[in-house]
Amino acid sequence: MSHPAATPAGRSTAGVLPGIETPEGEGITVYRPFPSHAARELDPFLLLDRLGPVTIAPGAGAGVPPHPHAGFEVVSYVLEGGLEHRDSAGNHGRLGPGDVQWMTAGSGIVHSEMPAEDLRAHGGTLEAIQLWINLPGRDKQMPPRYGDVPTANIPVATSADGLATVRVIAGEALGASATLPLRTAITYLHWTLEPGAAVTQPLPSGTEAMAYVLHGAARFGSDAATATRDQLIRFAGEDGPVTFSVPPDGARTELLLLAGPPTGEPVARSGPFVMNTMAEIRAVIEKYRAGALGEIRPE
Ligand code: MN
Repeated sequence: MSHPAATPAGRSTAGVLPGIETPEGEGITVYRPFPSHAARELDPFLLLDRLGPVTIAPGAGAGVPPHPHAGFEVVSYVLEGGLEHRDSAGNHGRLGPGDVQWMTAGSGIVHSEMPAEDLRAHGGTLEAIQLWINLPGRDKQMPPRYGDVPTANIPVATSADGLATVRVIAGEALGASATLPLRTAITYLHWTLEPGAAVTQPLPSGTEAMAYVLHGAARFGSDAATATRDQLIRFAGEDGPVTFSVPPDGARTELLLLAGPPTGEPVARSGPFVMNTMAEIRAVIEKYRAGALGEIRPE
């Protein structure tokens, strides 16, 4: 007779990082759990921002005007309101609630990220998430790329007990799967948990994993550590599933679960540029100053 395999307890947790209120662009506030003094990067992830929710006044002109990036990839996810993207490769994207946009900055690009036209004209609420994913050194000089995923194309699945629902932006959960055409195979899941929900989420081996709480509070990992709104909780180790749950007397909770394989490479960063060495940083700054990353052209 064989013995049944023990149920894996899953990964434990490795501490909480608060989303630190940080001014960005013009009239925009983000909540940024990293990079910070406590965590420069969570390889392969370089930055996580929760933009807002912020009330845009009619005609206020808030937003992030043209600026460069190089050496990594960006995923933006609109929760409320809308964003308008333009870049020096000639791309123009309009994102509404639930839409996802990905961009490979690669060898270098200039883009602008502004509230959607009707938000700028009439005012309203804007809330979005931005994640930066490092490129391995061999891909840092690749040509820039851009694309978006409309909300209707993002798979949604619900647990058998109806208490947990997931939007699968990338990866697999509850039998649904999706991929973003990034150079790094990440997991990016938006979970909504009713009181009493308990999730065991398998993850690929060799991945750094973390969760960011958007609303409510949940318990995470084999040690049942609590994280609440605007806190990022890290999971320890790189193998095994992760678990999270909301007590029956808890509140409806939303969280983002992120995981990805570390590059294991040295990280040299200066603002919007992320390379392996400071010599490469100086080179891309020189390119940018010389105008070689291009400019956003009016249509
Ligand atoms: Mn940007």
